[in-house]
Parts: sequence; C-alpha cells; structure tokens
Amino acid sequence: MVAPLSITFEGAARTVTGSRHHLRFGERSWLFDCGLYQGHRDEAEAVNRTFAFAPGTLDAVVVSHAHLDHTGNLPTLVGRGFRGPIHCTEATADLSTFMLADSAHLQERDVDHVNRHARGRARREVLYGAAEVAATVERFDRHRYHEPWELFPGVRVEYFDAGHMLGSALTTFEFRAGGRTLRLGMSGDLGRADRPILRDPERHPAVEVLVLESTYGDRFHTPAAETERALVEIVQRTAARGGRVLVPAFAVGRSQELVATFHALCLRGEVCELPIYVDSPMAREATAVYRRHPELFDEPTRRSFQEGQGEPFGFQRLRYVGSPEESRALNDLTTPCILIAASGMCEGGRILHHLRHGLGDVRNTVLFVGFQAEGTLGRRLRDGAETVNIFGEPVPVGAEIAALDGFSAHADQRELSDWVGRLDPAPRRIFLVHGEPGPAEVLAGVLRERTAAEVRVPEKGEAFELWH
Ligand SMILES: [Zn+2]
Repeated sequence: MVAPLSITFEGAARTVTGSRHHLRFGERSWLFDCGLYQGHRDEAEAVNRTFAFAPGTLDAVVVSHAHLDHTGNLPTLVGRGFRGPIHCTEATADLSTFMLADSAHLQERDVDHVNRHARGRARREVLYGAAEVAATVERFDRHRYHEPWELFPGVRVEYFDAGHMLGSALTTFEFRAGGRTLRLGMSGDLGRADRPILRDPERHPAVEVLVLESTYGDRFHTPAAETERALVEIVQRTAARGGRVLVPAFAVGRSQELVATFHALCLRGEVCELPIYVDSPMAREATAVYRRHPELFDEPTRRSFQEGQGEPFGFQRLRYVGSPEESRALNDLTTPCILIAASGMCEGGRILHHLRHGLGDVRNTVLFVGFQAEGTLGRRLRDGAETVNIFGEPVPVGAEIAALDGFSAHADQRELSDWVGRLDPAPRRIFLVHGEPGPAEVLAGVLRERTAAEVRVPEKGEAFELWH
C-alpha cells in the first residue's frame, strides 16, 4: 500500500494573492506558503483568519520567498497554535524578519484608524502583533539552494533559484513510498532572465507534477533594453525641464533593482548627473540584507563589487534618507533629482508627501515601475486623473505621468512557457495557480499545445490525489 499523497489549493487559486497550498503524505501534512490575502478589508480579514484545518495539527511549512502574499499570514498560523518548523532560504528568513514586523505595524495603524471611526460598529483586531511575529521568526529553518534535506521520512526537498527576488526559490519535493517515486515542482513566483542583481531563474530537474504561477499568463513584457532606453529618455527630459523624477516603488526588491539599474546606466555614461534619493527606512533595511548576501548576485553585480566600480547599492550620488526631517528637507531642493519612495501604489508611505509637494509642478515626472491595483491612488494617477486627493485635500496633477512595465519580477507568457518547455521530460500534470482566471486559462491553452500534460486551473479548496 502506497501512502496517500495529495494537494489542496487553499489560496492563490484563481487569484494572485494569499498563496497557501496544503500537502498531505501518509500521516504528515504541511503547507507550502502561507501568504496574506490582500483585498477589501472585510473579505481579506475573513480569508486570512480562516484555515481549513487546525493549525496545531500541521507538521511544517515550506516557504518559497519573502513577499507577503507568500509569507504574510505565517504569524496568524503561529498565533493559532502551529508549532512546527518554517523552512525557507537564508535570505527569505532575513527579509521576512523585518517585513513581517512591518506588516504587524501597518495592521496596528490601520486597525487604530478604523476603530477611531467605528461609531458603534464592532471593534476590529489585528491578525497578529509583534509577539506572534517574534514567535514566527524563531521557527525559521534556513536552507541554501542545491542542498536537499529530508522534510519527513520519504520526503526530500530542494531549493533552486527562482530569480524573482533575493532568496526566492523554486522548490522540488521527491516522495518515495512502496517502491514508487514521484517528483513535484512548486514554482512559487517565477522570475525573469537578465534582471538587475538577481541570477536568472534556474531549471530544476524534471518533475511529474508541476504547480506553476500564472500572473502574466496572457501578457508579454517590454524587453529590458527598450525599458532602459525609455527610462533614460524620461530622466533626461525631466532634467531638461529642471524637474524631479518621483518614483513610487516597493521598498524591497524594486527599489534595489532601480538603484542597480541607474548604477549600470551610469557605468555606461548615461544619466550620471542627477542625484538619487531613496527615501524609505524599509528600503534601507532591505538593502542591508542584500549586502549580506553577495553570494546570490548575478555576475555583473558581483563584478561590480569586485572590480572597484563601486557597489551598486551605494554609489556616490546615491543617498538613503533616514529621518522624517531629512525626508521633508528634500522638498526644499531646487535642482533636478531622482527620488524613489514607497509605497509602490501610493497607498501610504513617504511618497505621499512628495506627491503632495510635487504633483502640481509641470516640470516633474511621476514614473510608475510596478503594477497599480484597481482603487489605488497610483492607478488613478496612471489612468490620467486631473486632480487627486492626498491627505484629504485636492491636489491638481500638473506633472508628467509615465509608466514602464519592463521592470516586472514575474515571467510573462513566453517566459513561463519556455521555462516549462525546458523541463525534460515534460510534467505529466500541471496546476496553474497565482493568476486571475483569464490569464491562467490563456496560459493553460498555451501549455496544452506545447506539452502533453494535463493542465488544470484549480478552484479554491479543490484537492487532488497525486500518485495517479
Ligand atoms: Zn513574489
């Protein structure tokens, strides 16, 4: 008798957020990722608080990478009685330590704000606080790429570089029971080749079953060279007007990649003149983690460290802004500059002060380099709003609004399909997760044409036996 082996898709099924997959093998059960579901407040809270199992009965969690939609609900799990190890890469552990603390802090602020305006409605509570985050961080069990370990008897796990963010992993599970072997690949989020700092996504050994993300299953990204050219043009014409380039960017990942891109451009003699300010305490912490992990850098970044070209996170004209006073002082500068600040969708953080101050000025440019979700200030600006509300006051939009899609950290349709195509032999079954139904179904069609695999887009809560 072979021990039963199954997977239940409990999150990121037909949506891009709240990654959570439940694996069972014989007596053992564990989660792959436990991400925060990000959406409208009431719905998100219900999803994040509800588990289809008692957290105390889980034996482990295996995590793909540090983005909150893959890790952000771990402290809820721990708060509700989970006591097993949380396996992750070293960089994921380092990044998650402050990203989860920040997540707790933001929830506290949000809940305070909502409760102050509650007017008789039930008071809200945070999902977790600093105590649960501390208890979560203690459970991290750190691993390196290409160093397999035994999760349980008969289950071997190995991490490979996903090229999506620092420490991001493709994960393979190898199950052995009753003389049979089955290999399962979990992509987490799949990155892209030729991105700044990070190595290209690896190809892991062939697997029979593959769980693959599908965020951009129906899209093709602009090539990197074209994106860089457009970036140079935007910066040059803004500088020629005497304005500043305001870049709303997520503090972890995107900010470091932008800085590395400007460093590389400057080494080639392009856009060297303008000072660059990274105005985000969290970006500073994230950058410190990047500096601790040079072993994860791609060749050009590593060379840049070694050959005295200055390291790409701290070259001469770059300043990391710490205190709020320093941040406010940036508004008094009269010369052109590039200013990078969080949050990436302009929903909070220091970018709001800079927008309030700079949005009306026709010399300036607001440059979007990431996804802008519906309902966010970033989306309204990107869609061409003439006036927006910031801190409760109307602010007219005079600045140029520009957007570059080529900085995406997720593989597009061609990159996803090519990556699957390089697995030899091809998987026999593919489950597409982490995508809206539209993109996921489009990618399913592409993969059915390209491989002989059975390709499915599972519903939330759907379970599958994996041996057959
Ligand atoms: Zn991610």
